[in-house]
This record gives sequence, structure tokens and C-alpha cells, in this order.
Amino acid sequence: MSTKTIRLLSTPGEMQKAARELKSKGKSIGVVPTMGALHDGHLSLVRESLKSTDVTVVTIFVNPTQFAPTEDLDKYPRPFDKDIALLEEMNVDFVFAPEPHSMYPPGCSTKVDPPVVSKKLEGEHRPEHFSGVATVVLKLLNVTSADIAFFGQKDFQQTLVIKHMVRDLNVATEIVICPIIREPDGLAMSSRNVFLSPSERQQALAISQALNHAQQMLSQGETNTSVLRSEMMNILKTKNIKRIDYALVVDSDSLESIQNVRDSAVALIAAHVGDTRLIDNSILQKEPT
Ligand code: AMP
Repeated sequence: MSTKTIRLLSTPGEMQKAARELKSKGKSIGVVPTMGALHDGHLSLVRESLKSTDVTVVTIFVNPTQFAPTEDLDKYPRPFDKDIALLEEMNVDFVFAPEPHSMYPPGCSTKVDPPVVSKKLEGEHRPEHFSGVATVVLKLLNVTSADIAFFGQKDFQQTLVIKHMVRDLNVATEIVICPIIREPDGLAMSSRNVFLSPSERQQALAISQALNHAQQMLSQGETNTSVLRSEMMNILKTKNIKRIDYALVVDSDSLESIQNVRDSAVALIAAHVGDTRLIDNSILQKEPT
């Protein structure tokens, strides 16, 4: 049962004032940036923040600048009251849920030019996406005075973009990456899973199955990334997933192509199941010899 009332803040000014007060009392601030429609993946980040900091701020903001005009900004789920109830239950201290006009008032034109690691994969399929993500994350870290910010490995490339941005721009926030939380059958939790019909939900399982298969093949000695890639593609195609943006095994620091997996690498998939674009990944480890 929750023991205290959550504080809801809706403008950057209110959030900055609250953060200044917390800092003046010597409190450490943990921040979990989200777009809402919370599931256990998000809540696992919240739990980490509650464990490691004095005060936890969850931000809920469906950031328009990271969606292309053709994407699902308007239909993105926004079950705000349910989200607040979940966070209240967990004893979260603050929710920062601004409206787009307070984050981007008229005349706001500065954008972060995201690091090189943003250009591949998602960057090729969603060209403006990471500029929108980097800009909003930097704004959120600034207004919340975050000591630690928590992100999910589910968005693997995003974690690299944020880590590189924070390093390159000397942002004084520690970035913590938390593991991917999955449904019992392996599907990575995502706010977009609600768009899947029952048959699409079954089809979508091919994504985590393909990632698991890549790990199994590597464990059995197959290190060639072209072979691992075509094995993953086969599994996706067998389940009739036709629109595959990418299915690759690449270097897990730079996302550069590699011919063979030496010790570890990352397998990443982005594919459309029906009208829903899903992403997932797995860090592959070569078994010790
Ligand atoms: P989103 O609301 O989709 O922007 O996600 C907010 C944060 O939750 C991001 O850091 C995501 O990587 C993280 N997240 C989303 N899904 C999962 C998941 N299944 N497991 C762990 N973290 C997740």
C-alpha cells in the first residue's frame, strides 16, 4: 500500500524549483524517463531508482519531436490515470508530466546533434528520431537535476546515444542501464504490444526466438555474423514477418559491422508485425572455452 501522496508536476519551471529544494536538502535524485503506458519493464527501472536514490522522479512525456509525421504519435497509448495509480502504489515521489507546449514553447529551436552511434540502424530508418530523443533527454536531465537516470537495454541503440551524449557534453548524470523485461513467452514488454492482434502477438514471438537462436548458434561455435544474421532472418520469415528493417549482429560498443563474434556482440532486430514496428535485442556471449 502506498504511504505518501505522489507529487504531480507539469511544467519545467515547477520541476526545476522542486529539484532545487531537494538539492538544498542534500537529496539524491533518480530519474526514469518514459512515454507512459507503463508496464513491468518501466516499473523495473523505477524499482532500481527507488533502491539507489533518495527521491525518484518518473517523467511521462510522449515527445512529439522523436516521431516522424508518418509514425504513431497520435495513437500512442496514454492511460495517464492508470500510470499514476501504479506509481503511487510504488511510493514514487514525483511525476513530471509536461505538455508539449511547455517543453517546446514558441521560439524553442535548439536541438542536440546526436553522436555518431545514432546514424546506423534506427538512424537509417528513423532519421530525426535520435535528435528528438537526445534533445528531450538532455532537457529532462537538466530540469530534474538528475544524479542518476535509468534506461532500459530494450532500446539498445538509445542507451548508446544517451551514454555518448552525456560523456561528450559533460552532463553530470550517471546513466544506469537495466535488463530487458519480457513476457513469460519471451516477447519483450513494450507499450506498443497493445496494438498487436492475437495472431500478430503469436507472430511477434519470432523476434525473441530469432535472438535466442543466434545465442544458441554462437554457443555451439558459430561465430560468423553473416550466418547468424541469415538464421535470424529465416526464423522471422518462417513466421511470415515480411517487413524486417534489420536483423544484425554487430559490435556492442560502436554498432559497427564485424565478421566474427570474438567474445561478445549484440544482436538487434527491428521488424513490422502488422502495422506495429517492434524492436528487440540480445547481448550475445561466446561461451568460455
Ligand atoms: P518508453 O516509454 O518506451 O520510451 O520507455 C521508457 C524507458 O523504459 C526506456 O529507457 C526503455 O528502454 C525502458 N523500457 C521499455 N521497455 C522495456 C522493457 N521491456 N524492459 C526494460 N526496460 C524497458
